[in-house]
Amino acid sequence: MLALSPVFVGFIAWEWLSSRRLTVGRYRWQDSAANVVLALMHQGSDMLALLLLMPFFIWLYQFHLFTIELNVYSVALAFLLQDFLYYWFHRASHHIRWLWASHVTHHSSRLMNFSTAFRQSLTYPISGMWLFWTPLILLGFTPALVFAVVALNLAFQFFVHTQAVKKLGVLEWVFNTPSHHRVHHACNPVYINKNFAGVLIIWDRLFGSFVAEQDNEPCRYGITDDFYSENPLQITFYEWRHMLNEIKACRSWRQLVTILFGEPVHYGTNDTKLD
Ligand SMILES: [Zn+2]
Ligand SMILES: [Zn+2]
Repeated sequence: MLALSPVFVGFIAWEWLSSRRLTVGRYRWQDSAANVVLALMHQGSDMLALLLLMPFFIWLYQFHLFTIELNVYSVALAFLLQDFLYYWFHRASHHIRWLWASHVTHHSSRLMNFSTAFRQSLTYPISGMWLFWTPLILLGFTPALVFAVVALNLAFQFFVHTQAVKKLGVLEWVFNTPSHHRVHHACNPVYINKNFAGVLIIWDRLFGSFVAEQDNEPCRYGITDDFYSENPLQITFYEWRHMLNEIKACRSWRQLVTILFGEPVHYGTNDTKLD
């Protein structure tokens, strides 16, 4: 992912220059700086998680069901299946609070630009994102291939975080595009919890979570909460702190399970104004 940094920087520069003429800024330096710091924190925790998890995945691989040779077809199949699993991971991340506690970081900006793609949480390994890739290992894809397609999927997603590209014609039918992903980052009632795709939008179309961007409904970006911060630590631990406070006041096991794994709780109306 770090090897692609020059490409990412080039796209950000192009988008920033092309948006300077707009009345509403698409970039705030405080927001972008927070995104970059969050990306570095996320990369650090991902490297650590990879080191810790690789032995587990190699151990798990011995139970694989099929022997899958490495060729262009098996790589394409791994990519397709991982994208399918990503869809469900992402959908679960919006409906299970333990996963949302990490994923909310990505949605916490009120802006939408290429740097928003960097806004990731270092707590994804704690939430258990890696669990969603275990079926691929058990099917017979090697751990190295699985990690490669996971990285490829995430790299693709950088390019859908922009307002500089409107619609992409027939590609809109098959691929997750900037238009589809703007909808995903919007908190308008009609757009909320839609378009969970990683690379292929077909999963949303198949499983009923697709909504197209509408000209008469401009996207309002961010979460529905009143929370707004440009401090990377506050952004990272925002929902975890809320959960911890609720756990302290918890009175039963049933309540505890709801706090941890129920629908995410939202606090407020997304009315905080940026200066
Ligand atoms: Zn999301
Ligand atoms: Zn996104």
